[in-house]
Amino acid sequence: MPLPNPFLTRLKEIFPPGSLYTEPADCWVYGYDNSKRQVLPDAVVFPLSHEQALALTRLCNEHRVPLTARGRGTGTTGATVPLRQGVVASFERMERVIEFSADNRYIVVEPGLTNQALQDFVRPHGFFWPPDPTSAAFCSVGGNLAYNSAGPRAVKYGTPRDNTLGLRVVTGAGEELRAGVYTTKGVVGYDLTRLLIGSEGTLALITEATLKLTPLPETKRTLRAVYADVAAAARAIGRIMAQPAVPCALEFIDGNAIEMVRRYSTADLPERAGALLMIEADGFAEAMPPQIESIRAAAQNDGLLEFRIAETAQEVEALWQTRKALSPTLRKIAPKKINEDVVVPVTELPALIGGLDELSRRHGLPIVNFGHAGNGNIHVNLLYDPGKPGEAERAEACLDDIFSLVLRLRGTLSGEHGVGIEKRDFVDRELDATALSLMHAIKRQFDPNGILNWGKGFPEENRLVTSA
Ligand SMILES: Cc1cc2nc3c(=O)[nH]c(=O)nc-3n(C[C@H](O)[C@H](O)[C@H](O)COP(=O)(O)OP(=O)(O)OC[C@H]3O[C@@H](n4cnc5c(N)ncnc54)[C@H](O)[C@@H]3O)c2cc1C
Repeated sequence: MPLPNPFLTRLKEIFPPGSLYTEPADCWVYGYDNSKRQVLPDAVVFPLSHEQALALTRLCNEHRVPLTARGRGTGTTGATVPLRQGVVASFERMERVIEFSADNRYIVVEPGLTNQALQDFVRPHGFFWPPDPTSAAFCSVGGNLAYNSAGPRAVKYGTPRDNTLGLRVVTGAGEELRAGVYTTKGVVGYDLTRLLIGSEGTLALITEATLKLTPLPETKRTLRAVYADVAAAARAIGRIMAQPAVPCALEFIDGNAIEMVRRYSTADLPERAGALLMIEADGFAEAMPPQIESIRAAAQNDGLLEFRIAETAQEVEALWQTRKALSPTLRKIAPKKINEDVVVPVTELPALIGGLDELSRRHGLPIVNFGHAGNGNIHVNLLYDPGKPGEAERAEACLDDIFSLVLRLRGTLSGEHGVGIEKRDFVDRELDATALSLMHAIKRQFDPNGILNWGKGFPEENRLVTSA
């Protein structure tokens, strides 16, 4: 439905020329994300301030126009696709650092700042912000917060929920709200900061974030452990997590993934390996030898083929380049892939990997696994060719079985990519009816007219109401 004229007139008053697009050719690129789904918004605006975001939300409420927040569109589950069209608010131009305090270990930033720009700002002062998605160079802090996106470092340093002190937001109802604190302790009231983080833009627009910073470690060492089979690697992960030298990365790559990435990698990858673990330890230089020894002892089992410490910067770079090449390489190899980021308790990793192998055989489809093993967070890639009769249906059935397996193992359907559109129809298999009903009530409280990011994160509303 086209935007009503009075709405457009007022929108133009809030957003001067250059900060408002209404031409379809301009708007088109703001209607998609890395899920490859796309819906054309009626208008795209580029807020520069909290006040503009506030005026926009109030206007959308008045006219019941759908409003979707957007960072940089790198999300993989379609959470930023404007299903009901309306207005997309792209925060890419709100990218200022508002305040930095080394002594208090925090930084206050606008949501459009990229993760990389944030790291570049704080690094010379001896700090980093732990969330480190592979997309750091392109994705925004706002997107990281709304998705609770993380990366390898989460195993030691946590996710955005653990590294954010407070937020300034505009609720879907058009109210201003400051959630959280500027301190590292604080228990007054409910924790709205953690509620808003990971809410995928369905409750509020984030206009400012107070982020908790961590001092950069003095040094870091990268280790690799190669195993004859996946089961041996999975056993080692549990033992590594149970010893005192917490790794700052514990990444898992299965044998299929090693073979697949071999020709795109400059790393010296082992032949006939069943699985590889990339492990990093950080801290003071003098603490490194005992840390490495502790990890080496835990990694040892009868399936260990090789344990090596990277000695040069090139070796470290080649290993990380290999790890980061996995996802894009899959796109080159398979006509289509379903990429899930399921999580299970680390002790259940052997059962998960074994179960995935079994499902791969049963459905006759290759499954390639890698991911943040220290968190039990595995990227499960189901490869298929939609051009071959019956493969798409088999892939859907296999995905259903994968989710059942994960939930049986007391896991969760997504560790960092979020629910968006892709997983919303599976959510009620993980959350019980009471939880869903409470969440639905929270949504109504924050966004009574349902203007914000309609159709994301939960089963469709009628199913929600039915299940409550
Ligand atoms: C190559 C690649 C690698 C990736 N690697 C990882 C990884 O290692 N770990 C990981 O967790 N994820 C990864 N991702 C996916 C990840 O979700 C995103 O990269 C990132 O967090 C999204 O940021 P964005 O700025 O692109 O947000 P978008 O995709 O634009 O938006 C994501 C969500 O945030 C909401 N949003 C954005 N800004 C605001 C705001 N100001 N207020 C309220 N809501 C807002 C949107 O409505 C949407 O729901 C990867 C993606 C790609 C393409």
